[in-house]
Amino acid sequence: MKVLVVGGGGREHALAWKCAQSPRVEQVWVAPGNAGTALEPKLQNLAVAADDVGALLAFAAAEAIDLTIIGPEAPLVMGIVDRFAAAGLRCFGPLRAAARLEGSKAYAKDFLRRHSIPTAGYRRFSKADFDADYVLAQRLPIVLKADGLAAGKGVLICASHAEAIAASEHMLGGALGAAGETIVVEEFLAGEEVSFIVMASGRQVLPLATSQDHKRRDDGDAGPNTGGMGAYSPAPIVTPALHARIMSEVIEPALRGLQADGNPYTGFLYAGLMIAPDGTPNVLEFNCRCGDPETQPLMLRLSSDLPALCEAALDGRLAGASARWDPRAALGVVMAAGGYPGHYRSGDAIEGLDAAATLPGKVFHAGTRLEGGRAVTNGGRVLCAVGLGDTVRDAQRQAYDLVHAIHWNRVQYRRDIGHRALARER
Ligand code: AMP
Repeated sequence: MKVLVVGGGGREHALAWKCAQSPRVEQVWVAPGNAGTALEPKLQNLAVAADDVGALLAFAAAEAIDLTIIGPEAPLVMGIVDRFAAAGLRCFGPLRAAARLEGSKAYAKDFLRRHSIPTAGYRRFSKADFDADYVLAQRLPIVLKADGLAAGKGVLICASHAEAIAASEHMLGGALGAAGETIVVEEFLAGEEVSFIVMASGRQVLPLATSQDHKRRDDGDAGPNTGGMGAYSPAPIVTPALHARIMSEVIEPALRGLQADGNPYTGFLYAGLMIAPDGTPNVLEFNCRCGDPETQPLMLRLSSDLPALCEAALDGRLAGASARWDPRAALGVVMAAGGYPGHYRSGDAIEGLDAAATLPGKVFHAGTRLEGGRAVTNGGRVLCAVGLGDTVRDAQRQAYDLVHAIHWNRVQYRRDIGHRALARER
C-alpha cells in the first residue's frame, strides 16, 4: 500500500511516521515534508507544496496512491478532497463544503447557534454593517476574529473598547485581506482549554485519546499566542463525565448538524473547547484536521494501524472500529526559533540530533530542511521532542532530556509543558 501525507510540519511527520509502522504500507510520500521525514525509514519527500492541489492530484494518480491523508487546513478548504474523490482517489479529510467549519468562523458560529451547541455569544459584521455601538456595549475583554484563514493572526483579545473598535476597523479595512472582510465579535470565555479530536465518517465517530496544548509562547501561559508550544495526552481534565458531555453536547450534534445541512463530514474533526467552571464544553473553534502539536504525542501513544482507521472511515465502517492507545502519558515540547512567533531566522545548523536519536522518546521535525546532508532550521516551530512515561512527570522528564541534547543558535522553548496535568497528578 502506498500512502501520501500532505504537509510539512510536525503533525505530518508524526502522521507519516505512524503510517510507516503499518506492515501493509510499503512507502509513505510526504509533500513537501521536512528534514525529519527525509531521513525516516519508508518515508520519502515529494517537492510539491501542500496547497498545490493540481500537482498533488497528478502525482497521486500517476503513482496510484492508495490513501492520501491531509495534514493542514489550507488544501482542505481549497477542496482537495473533492478533487481527489472526483478522480477516484481515496483521500482522508472533509469535502470543501464541510471544511468551511474551519475556513469561515462566521459560518462556524452560525452553525453552532443553529444546532444549539454551546459557544460564546457573538455577532458578525462586514464593513457595510459594522456597529461600533454594539462593541461599546460589550463586557471586556472582547474577542475579535477574522472570518477566514489568517495563519494564526486572526484572533485578538482586546482589553478596551477603543482597541476593539480600532482593531475591527483595521481588519474590515483590509489588513488581513479577504480573511477579514467579515469579522466575528465574541464574548470572552473564562476556563481551561482542551483539544478534542475525533475521526468522523458521517455520524459515525471514533474519538482519539484526549490532549491539551499550550498556545502561549512563555512559561506560565504568558506572552503572545503561537501555533502551539507543547502538548500532552491524555488530558486529565477530561474525566469520563466530561468526555461524555463533550460527545453528547458537541461532537454528536455537530456531526448530526453537518449531515442535516447536507455536508456529511469525513476526516479528523478537532473541537477547540473552553471548559467553563460549571463544566460546560464551549466550542472556541472547529478545525477540520488534526492539531499541531497535539498529533505528535497522540501518534506516539496510538498502537492501532492508522491507515486502517482512515480506510474504515472512508468505507463507512468507523462504528465497528476501535483505537488502541499506549496507557502511558506522552508529552511533547516544541523547540522554536528565537523570535517566534514574530520575526525569526532560518538556516541555523541544528546540533545534537544524533545524540537525541539514541535516547528514549521521539523527535518530530517541523520547520527543518536538509542542507548538505545536515538539518538546519526552516521555520518558526522547528522540532517537537516527545517523551513517554508512566506519569506525566516521567513523560516530561524524557521529553526535556531530548530537548537538552539538542541545540542551535537562539533556540527557545517553554520549560513548563504539562504544568496543568502535573498539578492534577500531585
Ligand atoms: P481560535 O482560533 O478561535 O481557537 O482562537 C485562538 C485562541 O484565542 C484560542 O485558543 C483561545 O486561547 C483564544 N480565544 C478564542 N476565542 C476565545 C473566547 N471567546 N474567549 C476566550 N479566549 C478565546
